[in-house]
Amino acid sequence: MAQPLCFFIPDHIFTPTINRNAVANKVEELNKSNLQTNASYRVANSWRKEASKDEDLRLFAVSNEVVIESFDEIQPQKVQEPVEEAYTPTKAVRDGYENKLSETIRIPRDDLKFPASVPIEQSRCVFDLQFSKHPWSFPGVLMRSEGEPALERQGDPAVNQCYEHMGIVRDFYREVFGNHAILGEGIPLVGIVHYDFYFPNAWWHERDEKDDGSVPGLIFGDGWDTDPWKNNQPTKWYGGCFGNFVGSLEIVAHEMTHGMVHSLLKLETTEESGSLHEHLADVFGMMCEQWHKNQTVDDADWLVGEDLIAKQFKDLQGFALRSVKAPGKAYDIEDLGIKDAQVDHMSNMMQDKRDVKSIYVNMGIMNKAFYLVAQAMGKKSKSWEKPGKIWYAALQKLRTLGSSKCGITGWATITVIAAKNLLKDKKPTIEQDDVQAVIDAWKEVGVLK
Ligand SMILES: [Zn+2]
Repeated sequence: MAQPLCFFIPDHIFTPTINRNAVANKVEELNKSNLQTNASYRVANSWRKEASKDEDLRLFAVSNEVVIESFDEIQPQKVQEPVEEAYTPTKAVRDGYENKLSETIRIPRDDLKFPASVPIEQSRCVFDLQFSKHPWSFPGVLMRSEGEPALERQGDPAVNQCYEHMGIVRDFYREVFGNHAILGEGIPLVGIVHYDFYFPNAWWHERDEKDDGSVPGLIFGDGWDTDPWKNNQPTKWYGGCFGNFVGSLEIVAHEMTHGMVHSLLKLETTEESGSLHEHLADVFGMMCEQWHKNQTVDDADWLVGEDLIAKQFKDLQGFALRSVKAPGKAYDIEDLGIKDAQVDHMSNMMQDKRDVKSIYVNMGIMNKAFYLVAQAMGKKSKSWEKPGKIWYAALQKLRTLGSSKCGITGWATITVIAAKNLLKDKKPTIEQDDVQAVIDAWKEVGVLK
């Protein structure tokens, strides 16, 4: 069963942050101004250039749920025809609000296009769903393939951001860890932007286990506080707090790391294994950003998701979704009655592992341990050098063990073994002090005795 792996904004954070009155008011306003029709005009005008280049290009008129097979079919009269049960923003808000996907989606391999000169595992393909959310729309219109120049589309950087950020993540894994096939042999890097109207989330889409001719990929909503038609200026539409998913390198790296972990060892996404999945996505996503900015341990902010939070949210002491440096201190917003619930010590662990929230609460213990290891290597050190090499070696070790389950204590033990093995192999210049730093970090968070 194909399923989304990791909605970036988890339910327990997502739901209470919604200003319900603002949602209701905005929906009413949108219905009055007949946004569906306007959106279709904008879609038609914006893609006029691309459409005229390619007769077969399909354009999706999201307002009335018809597929327009050629550009000539887009006429104002057609778009304005009243259609029964039209796809309305009200429905988009409701579905987004529930943070659920109703039907299985698929990214057919046949829809991809690659240059012969680049290995398929290093090739990017970016699609545009043009605000549709329907399974039949997937993967959308192919906008930019590997090696193609930047798309010129004024006021809408999503396609180029997706392409560039996927490229940075690909280069990070190749140059730092020698991984030339992040998602596995024969699997390209696929990104899809503009899922639904203002859908406030992003996720990693995993395909069916059996090879059904489809590929996995990254899917991005635009977020409730972002209007791609106004140069991505924050708005208060729907009273939302989250946006800019594809504009955040860290989020792209986080989600692609889920794909890498899944391809390596099919780690389960529930209970403590789920916490480990999230922890790996967080720390490798963070390392990728720090590597790109060439930041030292001391320079880095160690916050996750700080660049997808609206200003009004930050003004209320909501700095980020998570803090790797100080789990539990990323946000504390009295007005909304929400506080970062992450823990940073085994003694405070959330015990009910069947509650999905525990995945995000307990991962703080591992995030904190990673931060302590990085700190121990010195303020001027770089996270992706020694700590990153140890964590990556531990991931390989876990793979050789062939288990799809791994708890927090198990992971701690494996990182220590990995550090010792690197010391034995004399690469990459891991010393006895570094091994001790790993042991000490896990002791400090109460995992190892
Ligand atoms: Zn995740």
